[in-house]
Amino acid sequence: MPTVSARFDAMGCRPDGSLDTSHTYRLGIMGGTFDPVHVGHLAVAEQARDEFELDGVVFIPAGVPVFKKGKSVTPARDRLRMCELACAGNPRFDVSSIEIDRGGDTYTVDTLRQLHDFFPPNVELYFITGADAVLSIMSWHESADIPRLAKLIAVSRPGYTITDECKRVLRDHADFDVRFFEATALSVSSSLLRAMVARGRSIRYLVPNEVRDYIEERGLYLPNSERGFL
Ligand code: ATP
Ligand code: MG
Repeated sequence: MPTVSARFDAMGCRPDGSLDTSHTYRLGIMGGTFDPVHVGHLAVAEQARDEFELDGVVFIPAGVPVFKKGKSVTPARDRLRMCELACAGNPRFDVSSIEIDRGGDTYTVDTLRQLHDFFPPNVELYFITGADAVLSIMSWHESADIPRLAKLIAVSRPGYTITDECKRVLRDHADFDVRFFEATALSVSSSLLRAMVARGRSIRYLVPNEVRDYIEERGLYLPNSERGFL
């Protein structure tokens, strides 16, 4: 397996990049396709960081998202760059290309294993996921290994409720350590933004300005723009 290339500045490492062994670090992991990253992702990551006293949150854009197979997805380098632009202004946010660098289908469990092996034991991983995705965790590839690697933070999302039944299923299965969190809701999605750009509508204030400029410069999401099929 390739090594973890990110510096993880967001965790407040010492200047030489090492971690304080006497402190337990909590690292949030925000996985997604981020096609494009938007204010919903950023607000949820920030609120989860604040609520659960995370030292930092790392955005990890998926290389080949298995759930989006058969659909077209913007090249990984563009999705990564948009995450970098979006996170640049928050010292507690970081971006890692590990899923893109790894190649092949993207499985969250592989990412968590890689991070778990990379960090010393005093770093706890918190995988942040929206209410729409949390319902499917049970069906994720090798999901039984996840509880050993990370805790989950399930965040509310407009249009998706985390029902009591869902909470029960998550708590009963495979010893998942799940925390539920009602974030201040933003009803925005990448699909909606792609459709808006394609129709020539303004997405100002729905993505950071730098991301909007990048989309414009690269001509992303226009009817004829470059998108790979998975
Ligand atoms: P798409 O419409 O292409 O599926 P998306 O907006 O759902 O895009 P993803 O990259 O699929 O974005 O999502 C990454 C993670 O962020 C998922 O865990 C998802 O549930 C969460 N998420 C996305 N948008 C929001 C939002 N507005 N509020 C809360 N969570 C969100
Ligand atoms: Mg989605």
